[in-house]
Amino acid sequence: MPVKTSCPYCGVGCGVIADRDASGAVTVRGDPLHPANFGRLCAKGSALAETIGLEGRLLAPVVNGQETSWDTALDHVAEGFARIVREHGPDSVAFYVSGQILTEDYYVINKLAKGFIGTANIDTNSRLCMASSVAGHKRAFGSDTVPGCYEDLETADLLVLVGSNAAWCHPILYQRMVAAKANNPACRIVVIDPRRTATCDGADLHLPLRSGSDSVLFNGLLAHLASSNAIDRAFVDESTTGAEAALQQVAGQTVAQTADICGLAEGAVALFFDWFAKTERVVTLYSQGVNQSSSGVDKVNAIINCHLLTGRIGRPGMGPFSLTGQPNAMGGREVGGLANQLAAHMEIENPRHRDIVQRFWQSPIIADKQGLKAVDMFDAIADQRIKAVWIMSTNPVVSLPDADRVRRALDACELVVVSDCMRHTDTTRHAHVLLPALTWGEKDGTVTNSERRISRQRRFLPAPGAARADWQTVCDVAQRMGFSGFDYPNAAAIFREHARLSSFENEGTRDFDLSALNTLDDRAYDALTPIQWPVTREYPTGTPRMFETGQFFTPDRKARFVPVTPRAAVNATSRDYPLVLNTGRVRDQWHTMTRTGKSPRLLAHVFEPYAEFHPDDARMAGVENGGLARLTSPWGEMVARVVVTAEQRRGCVFVPMHWNGEYAGDGRVNALVNPATDPISGQPESKHTPVKAAAYLPK
Ligand code: SF4
Repeated sequence: MPVKTSCPYCGVGCGVIADRDASGAVTVRGDPLHPANFGRLCAKGSALAETIGLEGRLLAPVVNGQETSWDTALDHVAEGFARIVREHGPDSVAFYVSGQILTEDYYVINKLAKGFIGTANIDTNSRLCMASSVAGHKRAFGSDTVPGCYEDLETADLLVLVGSNAAWCHPILYQRMVAAKANNPACRIVVIDPRRTATCDGADLHLPLRSGSDSVLFNGLLAHLASSNAIDRAFVDESTTGAEAALQQVAGQTVAQTADICGLAEGAVALFFDWFAKTERVVTLYSQGVNQSSSGVDKVNAIINCHLLTGRIGRPGMGPFSLTGQPNAMGGREVGGLANQLAAHMEIENPRHRDIVQRFWQSPIIADKQGLKAVDMFDAIADQRIKAVWIMSTNPVVSLPDADRVRRALDACELVVVSDCMRHTDTTRHAHVLLPALTWGEKDGTVTNSERRISRQRRFLPAPGAARADWQTVCDVAQRMGFSGFDYPNAAAIFREHARLSSFENEGTRDFDLSALNTLDDRAYDALTPIQWPVTREYPTGTPRMFETGQFFTPDRKARFVPVTPRAAVNATSRDYPLVLNTGRVRDQWHTMTRTGKSPRLLAHVFEPYAEFHPDDARMAGVENGGLARLTSPWGEMVARVVVTAEQRRGCVFVPMHWNGEYAGDGRVNALVNPATDPISGQPESKHTPVKAAAYLPK
């Protein structure tokens, strides 16, 4: 019987139909009715059936290296967390979760941490992909709201992709954009990225700007829009505040100055500015190249400023658009799965919001200050301020910056609990307790994609071994710690509670609202079709586009301009470390390859870690195409295959983020990446680490 579910990889959130025959063989195909993909799947999505075997799975709980029963493991976790909280206080424990888990899992672990233990030390690997956009949205709109929808990309006449290799990282969305351009002779695509990536193949203009200079470019654009009569005066006057200060900040910035600072040809910058100024329907999409920066929030606001000045937001075919990396980065934000949020887009620092959430949960306590964000959390584990950590469905020893420090932190931690579907990862190696989790195809719940669309992930495979849903494990630990309110019969009951909380005392002052879904019975939940929040009595079929009325979620209901002063990366290059290391994805792998690495077809695309050099840099470093290079930063080192290409900007090296392992030769690039973060969002600067390179000759 075919089952409709959704892809567990990127934030596009494609619909998938999975079929399992009598022999147990699984096939997958794109769901022709899912509004994200209309039947298409990319290479990763098409290979899903090849990645669901039980090889390498964690199938039983493990305590101190010994397989054991669930009762023993759950008692161990509950007693360990309770004792440490009793002896050292709530902030001595932490939870580090993932944009891979389902909204229902996220909801209950956030409820346990913030409402019952009383700590906001719960953060997520989504911190690494979109935290700067969250903060930028809040500064501009008063809420973490993605204004538009995928349809806007198909009706735009200008698509500006900033720091996004969508052709590889959001392939189906990119295919939709290219198809729309083919049908619309007026449509142009501009790619802003230091590298010439596959995304540039479909572009009319590529601006290979100097690494990190995005704010300068968009400040220059703001100045140009002001001087070329592209201001939507009525919108600016009625629906925004702060335009004058933002314009004063960029006053006098010329195209020539902008081009010079960004390392671009003046004519190319002028052309981009002219297209932007003269095109009404503009969507600016941005992703990790903007977010993963120590000034990522400012870069987001520099982009949003340009849309506010031209009034290009809240209408078809226009708006700023943050592309989320993970399948449920957005769902995690909805339930407060970040250290600086409460559930349902409420604020930890807001006493009224804390009161609303605590009364709703009937909880004994509520966290009243922000917790530690990802990088700071592992620093606190390293110096033993945090003595117990529960890591769920993520592999921080590979994916966090300064990754060797993360490994040492876990080794120093009194109690490390890891919930995962895989037995052997770089992180499970450091755990005292392993809890086997269900994975894609086995679990039930919801995820939210980049356009605020909630879709179901549905079960079509039996639970293997003793593996269980993460929400169930969290609830069992919570009950063993003596807490009530964790006796859900199924994922549907958690979703109903989450929807009720979103509508509880929400008088239209909060964007996230599922009030029309808060009484779904189990059958309706099971049949839920993809829908974009908010879903209210007024908009029972969802809301494709926000801010259509020109009203925002700030106290005065006006959007805010944010004056942006461009800042350099925290760690500059030097004579000792002359190259900028930039990390990112390859087309056919996902995160740390624990699943996509199982498919020979996907591995055939790129089968080993590599480092891309500009020919001049390769010559200077003495490395040759096809040879090996040792890359060294002040934080660590790695060895990778050398690829010499003129598509790399001079002075930059690109290395994919996926490979993992204990040794430098395993290609774990985050061992090199600097742990600098944005001061507001806490998002790491994964695109800018000073490194040096030299030829590596194996002994
Ligand atoms: Fe999955 Fe993303 Fe590919 Fe769609 S584009 S099939 S969500 S990996």
